[in-house]
Amino acid sequence: MKKIQAIRGMYDLLPEQTVLWQYVEAAAMEVLQSYGYREIRFPVLEQTELFKRSIGEVTDIVEKEMYTFEDRNGDSLTLRPEGTACCVRACEEHGLLYNQTQRLWYMGPMFRHERPQKGRQRQFHQIGVEAFGMEGPDIDAEVILLTARLWRALGLDAAVTLQLNSLGSNAARAAYKDALVDYLQSCRDQLDEDSQRRLESNPLRILDSKNEKTQALLADAPCLLDHLDDESKQHFERLQELLNESSVAFEVNPKLVRGLDYYNRTVFEWVTDKLGAQGTVCAGGRYDGLVEQLGGRATPAVGFGLGMERLVLLLEELGLVPDALEQNVDIYIVAVGDTAVNRALQVSEVLRDEMPHWRLQMHCGGGSFKSQMKKADKSTATLALILGEDELANNVVSVKFLREDKPQQQIAIADLVGVLQTAV
Ligand code: ATP
Ligand code: MG
Repeated sequence: MKKIQAIRGMYDLLPEQTVLWQYVEAAAMEVLQSYGYREIRFPVLEQTELFKRSIGEVTDIVEKEMYTFEDRNGDSLTLRPEGTACCVRACEEHGLLYNQTQRLWYMGPMFRHERPQKGRQRQFHQIGVEAFGMEGPDIDAEVILLTARLWRALGLDAAVTLQLNSLGSNAARAAYKDALVDYLQSCRDQLDEDSQRRLESNPLRILDSKNEKTQALLADAPCLLDHLDDESKQHFERLQELLNESSVAFEVNPKLVRGLDYYNRTVFEWVTDKLGAQGTVCAGGRYDGLVEQLGGRATPAVGFGLGMERLVLLLEELGLVPDALEQNVDIYIVAVGDTAVNRALQVSEVLRDEMPHWRLQMHCGGGSFKSQMKKADKSTATLALILGEDELANNVVSVKFLREDKPQQQIAIADLVGVLQTAV
């Protein structure tokens, strides 16, 4: 019979990989907590309307990437392609944005029907951060500093660079859009097909076209930064000042636009040249209009999404995976015979009570001393504790050093914790 396989573009994470994921997640959580951010969790399924209204009808995501289906009631549901809209929906539903600020994060799978390739999956994972109720550039600086701290914690700071832009107010962006369309209409025939289509639907996205000819045409196009409204200009200047004062290096990229409609003012991306075409590890910006657009009271907001797969790939690519992650067991317990198994189970429970951070693996399934020792060797343990007939008779445990050339020792069970503390 043909075996059933995972869906294209969706991957299993095996134990060798989950340790690396846990390492990244733990580092991220530590950083987030150090800035006072709190976790929020929401469902992976939402009403389709939520994403249409927030991300925008004519974006790549809504036009062709969503996993949308009708459930048994005939309601149109969508597997979340991103978290910001869900987060706003949840906050509004529970009154979290009423007269208060919020600093929130979440972590979990997102779904987009894209062409699978390195760094691009159909189920991928993001850590998302959203800060609500603060309109100044100081909070923009804070979320950027937070990401910079995470890169340092993971040793990635030399591998990523920060690109920054401002999209201005909605009105300024609309005026710029007209100027850009005017310019591009004049050379419409020379644009690539995708960009010709976008000229009607979403002209700003043409700015980040990968097509070289289109990029050459854009060299003389009007510049977004020349069209900023005064307040956005001040906001952007102040943000740059704050980043400079905090020694966060950045590059202003006037062609940086995001693929989602809800952004305004600050947008940023952390990019790397180590992952080929999928070089954006983390992307975000302000979305001051979104809460109102989804039916809430006008609430300024800023946030970002960080692609976990790309982060993990980058760590692997740069050889930054800590060696210690491979080890999952410190002590392997060998017990030969029923009576020894009884004793060994008790001893290992006592050891776990006393030393909760030790990782003890009890041999299960019987077998000879020799075969059990082979398993101990194959495990990642540095010590084997051996309980056999001799040991039982003398109320001791034999300690064998599996990775060091040291003589085997016999230790009284009562002294075990004290002696092992210095050995593990
Ligand atoms: P991309 O430029 O890769 O298409 P995007 O602009 O669609 O990204 P966002 O929606 O802003 O990305 O998502 C934020 C981050 O999530 C991206 O920078 C990337 O790290 C990650 N990401 C987005 N889509 C995928 C995907 N299909 N597979 C893996 N990671 C992804
Ligand atoms: Mg995309």
